[in-house]
Amino acid sequence: MNLKTSIEKMNKVGAVTANRLRRLGIETVLDLLYWFPFRYEDYRQIMKIKDLQPDQLATIKVKIEIISNKRSFKKKKIFTEALVSDDSGSLKVVWFNQPFITKSLSVGQEIYLSGKVKVEMLGLSLSSPVYERADGTDTTHTARLVPMYSLTSGLTQKQMRFLVAQSLPLALEIPDWQNEEILTKNDLPDLTSAIKGIHFPYDEIELKQSTNRLKFDELFLIQLQAELSRLERKNIQAKKIEFKEKEIKGFVDSLPFILTKTQKISAWEILQDLAKEIPMNRMLSGDVGSGKTVVAGMVLYDATLNDYQTVLMAPTEILAKQHFNSLSQLFEKLNIKIGLFTRTQNEINDEHPPLLKLRQAKEKMLEQIEQGEINIIIGTHALLSEKVNFKNLGLVIVDEQHRFGVAQRKLIKDKGGAVHFLSMTATPIPRSLSLMLYGDLDMSIISELPQGRKKIITRLVEPKNREKAYEFIREQIKHGRQVFVICPWIEPTENDEEKAPVNLLQMMVKEKKTVLQEYEKLSKKIFPDFQVGYLHGKMPGKDKEKIMVEFKDKKIDILVSTSVVEVGVDIPNASVMMIEDAESFGLAQLHQFRGRVGRGEYQSYCFLFTENNAKKTMERLNYFEKENDGFKLAQKDLEIRGPGEVYGTEQSGVMNLRLAKLTDKELLKKAKDSAKEIAIDLDQYPALKKRVELWQKKVHLE
Ligand code: ADP
Ligand code: MG
Repeated sequence: MNLKTSIEKMNKVGAVTANRLRRLGIETVLDLLYWFPFRYEDYRQIMKIKDLQPDQLATIKVKIEIISNKRSFKKKKIFTEALVSDDSGSLKVVWFNQPFITKSLSVGQEIYLSGKVKVEMLGLSLSSPVYERADGTDTTHTARLVPMYSLTSGLTQKQMRFLVAQSLPLALEIPDWQNEEILTKNDLPDLTSAIKGIHFPYDEIELKQSTNRLKFDELFLIQLQAELSRLERKNIQAKKIEFKEKEIKGFVDSLPFILTKTQKISAWEILQDLAKEIPMNRMLSGDVGSGKTVVAGMVLYDATLNDYQTVLMAPTEILAKQHFNSLSQLFEKLNIKIGLFTRTQNEINDEHPPLLKLRQAKEKMLEQIEQGEINIIIGTHALLSEKVNFKNLGLVIVDEQHRFGVAQRKLIKDKGGAVHFLSMTATPIPRSLSLMLYGDLDMSIISELPQGRKKIITRLVEPKNREKAYEFIREQIKHGRQVFVICPWIEPTENDEEKAPVNLLQMMVKEKKTVLQEYEKLSKKIFPDFQVGYLHGKMPGKDKEKIMVEFKDKKIDILVSTSVVEVGVDIPNASVMMIEDAESFGLAQLHQFRGRVGRGEYQSYCFLFTENNAKKTMERLNYFEKENDGFKLAQKDLEIRGPGEVYGTEQSGVMNLRLAKLTDKELLKKAKDSAKEIAIDLDQYPALKKRVELWQKKVHLE
């Protein structure tokens, strides 16, 4: 057996167990060793039978006096009954449906039992405890800190522990790629000890040290990677885009509003970066409605003044079109040519739509781009197709980068090269998380909303008040407003990626609201007198587009939709956001939905519905009801669900953080400092170099 041995070949693993393990992503012995426990039961203290208390989790060391299988009278189920004793007394033990126990345990044997103490009619007993022979060797399941693993149905903790314990000797063969000096300096154990120590720690100290080592590795690799790409960028010569202060000031003065303080700071930070020869790699983060577009506008204008072409990429056709409209309006009085280039759209701001077929129009635009006649090119990933050649590209801005696929992001990055790069996101990323995921990524944060925005009134509506909510909606529509209804699913019993992250248990207990069912109900029963439409991610792109355009043109009063309307869509006339099964969504996501309304002059409302009244759900939704700050919501969401759930495991870094938490600040600092030292001279550390290259192959880069 070695690290690469397939799990099937292991002792006591048949095809069935192997399949179950595979469901967890465990294929080899090495995978097993990296399947870390998520908690531990403390069964270290061995108690005397006479000291046991009801409901206690306890371990005892006892001798078996009697043991036999029995059959219950009523249910005809098999159970195993034993009488065990130590020098303080004796105790009854029962196991259900495990008749094989009488084959592995026999009278006179000394064993450990760990489990919960129950009160029965005739006194205390242990019910289905874990047992293990006390033969002087190390224990695995009892009388220690016992590891508890995430499982899948059909697997047991005991099985998992057995398999991990069986693989542990091979931990010796895992080559330790970490530099010894770094380990010594940061007081971290070697890899083999760490892996042993995280599965079967002797005590809390060993557990902590082992966990720290493994967390350190996760953080270190991300930081090292970030540091390397920072150094790499330093060596690339980017185009210097001068800060045309006078013109930019003039532009800002011409706006119908005054920039917020953090809009100004952000714009200034970006414009400073552009004037350097090192390519910018910055993220602009700001809550929905905080006004990122106008900041992007200033930057695009500045590059245009410097005679550079720019690209603004959006994740969907709808958003690309919206950006095109906003910028065309923003630059109305300036002599700037803006082109829209997506799979189905092709338009130039100051020209009448060409009388050409789309394909020809596109070809024409490609030529204009190549000639440098178009200054700002707005589009979707269609822009990534190789045919697009620029005359003088200086800057790329990507909106909601995390919504692009892995391959697309790599392409964006490759296309980037020597150009300045800005990504924008409406999912606020707290500084602490960004540091952990991206290292020293330069970030600008718009942390306030423009003044005078009406606060969106948010209410968690009790089921009995549903009719009232519908009445309210009716009134709003009569006043000319429009309404969003969000459901977590498209149609009954689906298995779709678009579904909201839902606790499996909740799913089994009750049915979730679906777009198609709600659409039926609202259009036929509740609001037959209004226009109701629906939208979901499985619809073909042009159908989605059509519905959004109809909604924008007020041909639809109520739009029932899945989370596809989450980001960016601007319908200033919409005043109600109604969210069904609100518990299915994370706080950050709910906040994105809420940001779809209140974008115009009208007082807007967000109604949450849930049929799940678990305490935790209520706490979460009540928090959302009161909190309007996207950053605070994101922070809370992170505490509750962790970065993978909030930002998607696609986000670089997240998927590599299995152990490290946001709270591991000290470790993060250590990892960062070490990474900085190493990065300058990576060639000196061949093992590290190999490891980070392997890591790069697996992870796409931001
Ligand atoms: P987001 O950050 O969500 O992309 P937008 O850029 O779409 O936000 O801005 C939302 C709205 O706020 C737009 O209509 C925009 O014109 C307006 N806006 C932007 N900045 C300000 C400001 N400083 N004062 C008032 N309105 C602003
Ligand atoms: Mg936006």
